[in-house]
Amino acid sequence: MRATTSLAGAIGDTPMVALGRIGAGLPVPVLVKCEHLNPGGSIKDRLAAAILDDAAARGVLQPGMTVIEATAGNTGVGLALLAAARGYRLVCVMPEKMSTDKREALTALGAQVRITPNAAPSHPDNFRNVAARLARENGWFLADQFRNPANVAIHERTTAAEILAQTGRRVGAFVAGAGTGGTISGVGRRLKAEVPGVQIVLADPVGSGLADWVETGNLGPDGAYAVEGIGGSEVPDNLHRDVIDVAERVTDEESFAMVRRLVREEGLLVGGSSGTNVVAALRVAARGGLAGPVVTVLPDSWDRYRAKPWMRDWD
Ligand code: PMP
Repeated sequence: MRATTSLAGAIGDTPMVALGRIGAGLPVPVLVKCEHLNPGGSIKDRLAAAILDDAAARGVLQPGMTVIEATAGNTGVGLALLAAARGYRLVCVMPEKMSTDKREALTALGAQVRITPNAAPSHPDNFRNVAARLARENGWFLADQFRNPANVAIHERTTAAEILAQTGRRVGAFVAGAGTGGTISGVGRRLKAEVPGVQIVLADPVGSGLADWVETGNLGPDGAYAVEGIGGSEVPDNLHRDVIDVAERVTDEESFAMVRRLVREEGLLVGGSSGTNVVAALRVAARGGLAGPVVTVLPDSWDRYRAKPWMRDWD
């Protein structure tokens, strides 16, 4: 057993498992990295620790300071655990679309939560603009996951390294959705550099404009969708188009039906974007022509969606 002396030491080194039932009969295995098993229940624990470590090392974050972040919830949970352990105050700005489970978790962890309307990126009430304004006005440290290069760097250094080790460096394709872009840009960049012929695939909700952007360079129309944490109507600085080869579009219905299958057939207790990633990964595997397995991530845990209609309707 591995022993660790800090909470941050328990982040990462997540298990990778093959989808033995859902992926049966495909030309290559589909392997999923269980990021929902991080201490805060999501992949975002990695960048929460990386951003705080980097800011503390640069001296811009001092003990006792307030950290603020615009977050769909998961980064907030990661920051809240570490803020509690390290003695920072935390303010999270969330769009109202995000689940009440996430709001309650953040409040329970001692964070202050500010809810903003679901406003367009150019609008002053948009959650990112509100967080930046509050940071400026109050002298708080803005974690800035959409722009902070520590986000991409931690996936390049840890998530990608673990994938290389866990697959024996044989990866046919890597599939991920993009919220900040940190996962796909960081993992994609390292795999492209180290695995000849690997395909990097963006899994994008129908309603997001990012798949069109991958294909044409121009964002697609802004539509509504219910999967949380991925897709969008603007391109974050941390999403790097040069490492992405193709995009796969996935509907809410396909994503949520796949979450149910992941829970019931594989015992993987995951959230909506895991469904999106796995639907896209299965399609990529089924197309054939790959020299190795398809790898994807299960970004978060089901426990933060229990109040959502798509989970309530399970019989
Ligand atoms: N899934 C969920 C549930 C998320 O919260 C996020 C991050 N917003 C992602 C996927 C995407 O990860 P990244 O920010 O690294 O693109």
